[in-house]
Amino acid sequence: MVNAKLSVIQGPASAGVEARKQPISILVLHHTASSLPSALDSLQGRSKGHMVGVHYLVSDEQPKARIFRMCPDSLAAFHAGKSAWGKFEGLNQSSVGIEIVNYDGNIHPYPKPQVDAVLALAQHLVTTHRISPENVVAHSDIAIGRKIDPGSLFPWEYFAANGVGAWPDAKDVQVFRILLKSKKLTTPEIQQLLRVYGYRLDDNSEKTLRLAIEAFQRHFRGSKVDGVADDETVAILQALVKKYRGVSPKTASPARSVKV
Ligand SMILES: [Zn+2]
Repeated sequence: MVNAKLSVIQGPASAGVEARKQPISILVLHHTASSLPSALDSLQGRSKGHMVGVHYLVSDEQPKARIFRMCPDSLAAFHAGKSAWGKFEGLNQSSVGIEIVNYDGNIHPYPKPQVDAVLALAQHLVTTHRISPENVVAHSDIAIGRKIDPGSLFPWEYFAANGVGAWPDAKDVQVFRILLKSKKLTTPEIQQLLRVYGYRLDDNSEKTLRLAIEAFQRHFRGSKVDGVADDETVAILQALVKKYRGVSPKTASPARSVKV
């Protein structure tokens, strides 16, 4: 169903695009880290550096944010860069991207008109392309240690409550927290849960785990982004794996349980 509030303007053509060779499975959200004019410039290839592109750009204007379409969904745009999620790699080919004007979504809250515009657009995209909740991701989820957008202040819970993206059931989190009081998970168990959910940990080092936990918290526990896997963080992860990956976290095995 198309949201009546959704209004998309044809914007200038995005520079960094190419033919799409894979079906759309993922929606990636970004903050621009720049103003609207400079985001429009760089997306048209007018600034120095490598070529970037995106499908949609949502302004931070008040009282009404504008949504610019900068390339059709049928093309792949260069917004994800080196990235991985579940079995997917180099997500430009398998995703649609939305750039949201905000200098840093870890510092500046997203204004309501902008949130409403992004939500209406995202609802339309997940419905049109049948994108599953766990495949609505932050750039920071798919480029661990490299990206921090759209930031810990992005309203993921509100989006999930409105049909876009994943969020754990509070009751499950509570139950897992109680279980963790008597038995902590080991580091390999936590690494496995992150991988089952979709995060790509390139190795088993402490540093990689810390960065992955940080990315996870930026999405699912915005009030505490420190890379430390405390009970609340682990319980949220277990609840998400249970809800979206359809496996009991105790027996979760990446090889047979990562569904995409
Ligand atoms: Zn980004």
